[in-house]
Amino acid sequence: MTLSAREKAAGAAPIAFDNSYARLPAHFHAAAVPTPVSEPWLIKFNRPLAEELGLDTDALERNGAAIFSGNAVPEGANPLGMAYAGHQFGQFVPLLGDGRAILLGEVIDTHGRRRDIQLKGAGKTPYSRRGDGRAALGPVLREYIVSEAMFTLGIPTTRALAAVVTGEPVYRDRVLPGGVITRVAASHIRVGTFQFLAARGDNEGLKVLADYVIDRHYPEIKGHERPYLALLEAVIERQASLIARWLCVGFIHGVMNTDNCAISGETIDFGPCAFLDAYDPAKVFSSIDRGGRYAYASQPAIGQWNMARFAETLLPLLDPEASEAVNLANDAIAGYGPRFQTHWLTGMKAKIGLHTEEDGDLDLVQGLLSAMHRNEADFTLTFRKLCDAAESSAHDGPLRDLFANPADIDAWLLAWRERTGREPLSDALTAAAMRAVNPAFIPRNHRIEQAIRAAEDDGDFSLFEALNDVLAKPYEDQPKFAAYAAPPAPSEEVLKTFCGT
Ligand code: AMP
Ligand code: MG
Repeated sequence: MTLSAREKAAGAAPIAFDNSYARLPAHFHAAAVPTPVSEPWLIKFNRPLAEELGLDTDALERNGAAIFSGNAVPEGANPLGMAYAGHQFGQFVPLLGDGRAILLGEVIDTHGRRRDIQLKGAGKTPYSRRGDGRAALGPVLREYIVSEAMFTLGIPTTRALAAVVTGEPVYRDRVLPGGVITRVAASHIRVGTFQFLAARGDNEGLKVLADYVIDRHYPEIKGHERPYLALLEAVIERQASLIARWLCVGFIHGVMNTDNCAISGETIDFGPCAFLDAYDPAKVFSSIDRGGRYAYASQPAIGQWNMARFAETLLPLLDPEASEAVNLANDAIAGYGPRFQTHWLTGMKAKIGLHTEEDGDLDLVQGLLSAMHRNEADFTLTFRKLCDAAESSAHDGPLRDLFANPADIDAWLLAWRERTGREPLSDALTAAAMRAVNPAFIPRNHRIEQAIRAAEDDGDFSLFEALNDVLAKPYEDQPKFAAYAAPPAPSEEVLKTFCGT
């Protein structure tokens, strides 16, 4: 495909690319030029993010439809698909690669950080296998909403720079409007990227990739006596921390395959993801997760399983002696559990206003979760109403109302008040600290579904816009958006979430 002179002019250098991944060995990637679409229309441009990236926002806004659909490839881009492998629901696939995502290139943002800019849904790549390289509008909107919400919630995540409608249909179980999302990531290197090289027995390539990752994501490790062991430990640490944070906001990723596990420690690949309404540790939303492998409470263990797969790829780099390499890897993987537990308990304690340490704290947290589970209490609202209860027991009512049997929470509240009484902060300050970690708003699955329905069926993006507006400040009460804090009415409940690939 060649771009017309007009398209080239439209896309002239609004992005100062500096493409380091393209300079890595040729088998790490494959050239992949976006396939033009007939009638692209820019539905969303994330101006604050574009500013943070140091892009020419005016030029991008003017030519957004062409650039963010892939119709005009901006100057300096080096479009490619990245090669990777992956365990999908436990089954190893030695070559997946970006089948519907095209890395345009990298920029150095205004904070000096290298960031990837990628089009997802912009047409086939050499890794598309039988896929069409396209994305349906629904999953594009879902990823836009949820990834930006993760960011405002303060959780490491890829970002959404733009969303377009292509004007062309995509064929899934039915005909759907097509879309493209422009994703920004610290990088798109996954556990699966390492697995791709390991599966080929390419130890030289592994070393190149590991050095690249250290340089790009873990520069503090450079010069370490055992840099690849330090890398393994650092990736494990970020993964343990990330998954703890997911649990603290009730997030279910949905497809924690090793190809969806970013080495940078960002949340990536928002497919059939969703947030809990009623607390249920066994909750699964995804229609493709039939065995419940990626249920809410299974995520920490899966995170460790993914880290074990990562460790396996590093074995040739860890030590020349195979048995020693395995010992080092095993020790590092064993460290995941305690790391996760520390992050999770710290996060959960903060949610109930505890910042000092006492022996019974874990039991107190678990006591609340058990009561929530027994009573099908809404996860987000329970913690948010608990912030009010921290201020005064006069505000216990709305919290008690969330429990099928309110008496079930009363005993817990007594124990909790006894414990918080020994915290140094005043009640008002405790409540304020709790409100800063317990969101009032999350992207509720039924709201996302309503936004997608309106967009797909009626071309109406007002619900999508409203949802993004609410979620820009998830920790503020925003009374005018009160309805968005509510769990679904029975008729609004979404039973399964389709990833729509
Ligand atoms: P995902 O489920 O998005 O994590 O994708 C798993 C693998 O399938 C990745 O290699 C994707 O690039 C590929 N894939 C998913 N959907 C498509 C599609 N529509 N066309 C081509 N490849 C796809
Ligand atoms: Mg993926």
